[in-house]
Amino acid sequence: MNILVSTAETQGRRESDFCFVPEGEPVMVGAACDKDRGDPDGGCGCLRSLVGFRSHTATTTVKTAVAEGMTREKYISEYLAAHLRTGFPEFRGTRLEAGMLFDAAQMYAEGTVLEYRNGRLAVRKDRGRLTET
Ligand SMILES: [Zn+2]
Repeated sequence: MNILVSTAETQGRRESDFCFVPEGEPVMVGAACDKDRGDPDGGCGCLRSLVGFRSHTATTTVKTAVAEGMTREKYISEYLAAHLRTGFPEFRGTRLEAGMLFDAAQMYAEGTVLEYRNGRLAVRKDRGRLTET
């Protein structure tokens, strides 16, 4: 199965890009604050970034990578554990978010680079779409 991991590929395509997560680290949806008020290019950056499972730093660019032996259930459990390590409690939507990121990762060929903006993923470097959405 595929998962979404951090990548520095295509960094700089947007002026507001950043990538503090080590290359290849799995990523999750981070907590969003009120500072950027719906603006994905705002000063905080939480609306345009995903957060590393271990580093808890953020990146605006991610890519699909093959995770041998991964299952949807295992991924959701690892995602939840990573979320809880940030110190936040489990939110009502945490497992749903995990499932959505996992499902999204299955839609793209390995190595597809994506950006995250306002809760949506978009392709930056296409390696082929596997399923129609
Ligand atoms: Zn923020």
